[in-house]
Amino acid sequence: MKNNVPAVSVCTENPDPLGTDPAEEPPSISSALVQDLLFTPQTERKYPFPTRIPISQQSRKFLRNFFPHATEADWCSWHWQIRNSICTLDRIQHIIGLTPDEYGAIVRHSTGLPFRITPYYASLLSPSDPSQAIRRSVVPVMDEYLASPGEAQDPLSEEHQSPVPGLVHRYPDRVLFLTTGFCSTYCRYCTRSRMVGNHGKFRGSITQWQQAIAYIQATPQVRDVLLSGGDPLTLPDSHLDYLLSSISRIPHVEIVRIGTKVPVVLPQRITPKLIRILKKYQPLWMSIHFTHPDELTPETRAACNLLADAGIPLGSQTVLLKGINDDVTALTSLFHGLLKNRVRPYYLYQCDPILGSSHFRTTVDKGIEMIEGLRGHTSGYAIPHYVIDAPGGGGKIPLLPEYYQGRENGEVLLRNYEGRTFRYPDPQAQCSA
Ligand code: SF4
Repeated sequence: MKNNVPAVSVCTENPDPLGTDPAEEPPSISSALVQDLLFTPQTERKYPFPTRIPISQQSRKFLRNFFPHATEADWCSWHWQIRNSICTLDRIQHIIGLTPDEYGAIVRHSTGLPFRITPYYASLLSPSDPSQAIRRSVVPVMDEYLASPGEAQDPLSEEHQSPVPGLVHRYPDRVLFLTTGFCSTYCRYCTRSRMVGNHGKFRGSITQWQQAIAYIQATPQVRDVLLSGGDPLTLPDSHLDYLLSSISRIPHVEIVRIGTKVPVVLPQRITPKLIRILKKYQPLWMSIHFTHPDELTPETRAACNLLADAGIPLGSQTVLLKGINDDVTALTSLFHGLLKNRVRPYYLYQCDPILGSSHFRTTVDKGIEMIEGLRGHTSGYAIPHYVIDAPGGGGKIPLLPEYYQGRENGEVLLRNYEGRTFRYPDPQAQCSA
């Protein structure tokens, strides 16, 4: 059976990338339900988690201050959130007090990585503290214009491992499918800054998707497809449905994964209709990009729980960022919060050496120190793999503190989390002795 190809072109950076299909607007939240979600003690509710995305007090106050003519139903519409995203100097300086450095960076802005923040995520930014973690992750600074040794536009050589446009085939059994160049909020350290947004080269299109789908169909060793971008969950429902159905029907594709930051920056996108679409394509996994515990708001918690309730296994990926989350206390708080919301911390990435990212990059020793500070001090489920995505296309390489300390007299010497040494009788070494 042939799929119905959606008529609208795949979204790229533009003020209204989603078309105007009113059927995709999430229904507005009734004030009775909001009251119920916000004011009814958990034990008195009929359900353990919200069935829609609530509006926190912080969001409500922000809405009143900065969008006085918008309604709560507007705020809950993901289309409204995207149409009203903050992308200009005028808008952002109305909301936060810019430092001269931030001001200069936005005025000078000319890089391929656009400036865009959803109103929801902007509501979480400190108006007065430029060192606030999440503000630093989305507001440009002049350091973005400094290219340092070892940095490159495409440090992971994705373009050299791309058999057809928009598809990266690096590992034997899985592919990365770049669905769109659009994100609702742009992280200043984005690995794909070369291709996202309006100044990048990448333009997703149905024709390009069909080429990528044909490649997967013709490559039987591909059993796992990761949809990424840009952010696949910024695609209209019809596009996502088409893409998921086209890939899922390929007999040798066993699982599909979606990499997204949408539940964190645009939780209103997790609508009942989206959930119905995603549920059709099990087994479907989701990797959610979290940066800091400040992102664990009522809205984001509700989005994660709606996805988990739909039977979608959730993992997180976090980029280790200097002065933002390179702190054991912050990471522990983030990972504990994720587990409470049924998201398994999966990867902690060393920041890729994209152009203008040195102000974000920690030393590798710092990353190992983070894992050392977690291992043994919290449950193993709360500890992600710390990995470096090897420049030049070598793939993800995990790094661990030196727990293995060598061999002696047929025994393996091991160091535990407290620094104490233990001996393990290694059967293989004893046999060969
Ligand atoms: S959400 Fe992902 S693709 Fe989009 S800007 Fe952030 S890191 Fe880049």
